[in-house]
Amino acid sequence: MNFNSFNFEASLQEGLDAMGFEKPTPVQEMAIPIILEGKDIIACAQTGTGKTAAFILPVLNKIAKSGESKLNTLVLAPTRELAIQIDQQIQGFAYFLGISSISIYGGGDGLVWEQQKRALEQGAEIVVATPGRLIALLAGGKIDLASLQHLILDEADRMLDMGFSEDLLTIVNYLPKNRQTILFSATMPPKIRQFSKKLLNNPEEVSL
Ligand code: AMP
Repeated sequence: MNFNSFNFEASLQEGLDAMGFEKPTPVQEMAIPIILEGKDIIACAQTGTGKTAAFILPVLNKIAKSGESKLNTLVLAPTRELAIQIDQQIQGFAYFLGISSISIYGGGDGLVWEQQKRALEQGAEIVVATPGRLIALLAGGKIDLASLQHLILDEADRMLDMGFSEDLLTIVNYLPKNRQTILFSATMPPKIRQFSKKLLNNPEEVSL
């Protein structure tokens, strides 16, 4: 199988070609069709399996098709490093799509904070954030998630291990109920299953 089978928008396929992506990895093959259909999904996949492209390519395709230009996709990640890495991959894939993404994370100095706030004012379809920093923005009224359509949790097990579960539930309170929720986790302990029941609606499960 190759990426053409997903019938992605031409500009997204162009981005994949430019990045040298030819064949989907197993997790991509399994998860992409489910996400394209708009279903909620729990996927168990480790770093290095191509998990980032598995959740972001179908979401980019959906945004490109709808032509929606408001902030419609939130990716939550446990660390600043991962948030930056996801944001960079999105920018690579979206190069020909005219869809923009920004990353929001804690740490750094006042300048980083100002840059993040300015980027938000300029607008983007996708925000990649660490939970603590996002809550600060929500509490300050600096970010509006009312038009959100896709919520993605990456490395959900690590977010719970780092003590972010209350923060995640607070964030979800700001989101429309009618959204697609995508959860990726390297491991699938019972606490992830229990937690996912609070966030996901009748999810399909994918495991490598
Ligand atoms: P990840 O598991 O998302 O951290 O991805 C691991 C690495 O594999 C990243 O550098 C991706 O750019 C790369 N990658 C993911 N999917 C593919 C693919 N289908 N073909 C080639 N490289 C890929």
